[in-house]
Amino acid sequence: MKPLHHFAAHELRDSFLKGEIKAVEIASYFLKRMEDQGPALGAFLSVLGPRALTKAEGLDRKRAHNQPLGKLAAVPVAIKDNMHIEGEITTCASQFLKNYRAPFAATAVHALEQEDALLMGKTNLDEFAMGSTTGNSSFFPASNPWNLDRVAGGSSGGSSAAIGARLSLIATGSDTGGSIRQPASFCGIVGFKPTYGRVSRYGLVAFGSSLDQIGPMTTCVADAALSMEVLGRPCSRDATSLDLPRESYPLSKKLGPTKIGIPWHFLEGLKPEVLAAFKEAVQVFKDLGAHIVDIDLSILKHSIATYYILATAEASTNLARFDGIRYGVRAPHAKNLEEIYEKSRANGFGREVKKRILLGTYVLSAGYQDAFYKKAQKVRTLIINAFEEAFADCDAVMMPVAPTGAFGHKAITDPVEMYLQDIFTIPANLAGLPAVSVPCGYDGEGLPLGLQILGPQLCDVSVLQMAYAYEQATNWNRIPPRYK
Ligand code: GLN
Repeated sequence: MKPLHHFAAHELRDSFLKGEIKAVEIASYFLKRMEDQGPALGAFLSVLGPRALTKAEGLDRKRAHNQPLGKLAAVPVAIKDNMHIEGEITTCASQFLKNYRAPFAATAVHALEQEDALLMGKTNLDEFAMGSTTGNSSFFPASNPWNLDRVAGGSSGGSSAAIGARLSLIATGSDTGGSIRQPASFCGIVGFKPTYGRVSRYGLVAFGSSLDQIGPMTTCVADAALSMEVLGRPCSRDATSLDLPRESYPLSKKLGPTKIGIPWHFLEGLKPEVLAAFKEAVQVFKDLGAHIVDIDLSILKHSIATYYILATAEASTNLARFDGIRYGVRAPHAKNLEEIYEKSRANGFGREVKKRILLGTYVLSAGYQDAFYKKAQKVRTLIINAFEEAFADCDAVMMPVAPTGAFGHKAITDPVEMYLQDIFTIPANLAGLPAVSVPCGYDGEGLPLGLQILGPQLCDVSVLQMAYAYEQATNWNRIPPRYK
């Protein structure tokens, strides 16, 4: 039998169901891998050894008694540490929440548990999911399994590093402006941001509520589809959850009649190696029979400015709840209530988080609301309309995931340059669209690049279907040499 970390999640489940391997062996194998390889990668903020082993023993007993088992039976799953697992610490990689124990499970986490996944650990992230490198974690940064001197991407960089190095086979991510897709692209794995509202955010610590979406990060498209069958379900506890029946995700190697739109104008100035990999991917789709059309999405050049107004505005209100009274660490020696708030927030939040709270408060303030926040809302509507028009002419839009492959830990110091990293991922969040990142080659230094496929709202199944056809026609989902 091949080593367990070479299995796809669905293959490992099948092996367990057939009795070829025990759940306890799977849990022990991956816990050992996490222990050996996790620290150098900075992938995990906590490891849930006893929890995973207890669950695994239960699954082995169930199997021995021929009891029904879930869709993710014995599959190791890692949870981004901004989602609650009942009874475990949720830090959001912040000093503020380092002692916060969640009294309930996020709906997404609960769904994974119900389908018999093994919850293995909580993954590192940029503090409160604000960032593109995981360097904003208040504990330690995450590194890229392809080259430890490079970032794993962010904000779900712990999840992408863990899956890239095969320390787990499925991880959850949250994506407000690209935090599932960009780290997936940097680490050579599949990352899927579903349609806004498809996956419940109940129990996800909110960042930008009109943008946040939970989704899977996996080693292959089939596992992303399998995860979506589990995660994509209505939830009465999230007011934005869509009341849709659960979908199944049948995947076929064949691409049906498909028209793909490419916003060539918007892609001008792309780095040559990123452009080359992208063009090669477009050629693969042509060879699969797709019809390629040019579309105009030049309005997307405004998406970064729009996002950094709306996301910070929403973050400033969402993070107002961290006052030192209700959650997390309370600053000592405060003389009165006002001082508890002030000191707890001053000590608890890191630099990037404070900066965003300030910016968000500013754009919402009485004097500037019309000039910034409301104007950004209007531009967002124009972006939504532009996508609607584009989709009248094609079934999917394709572009790169990020303007570069993974860069060095200290390579980008200018905050505006860092924000520009998100140019290709933010549009899907502003318009609520499903979008996937699938490996599509390597940059000049051998670091992975991702192809992004975006579909109209609710077309999650067809987006994954296209990614699957592409993945089957290519061979880019590789394990980094040092983790083979
Ligand atoms: N990089 C973006 C930001 O810093 C996106 C983060 C996210 O999707 N959570 O806001």
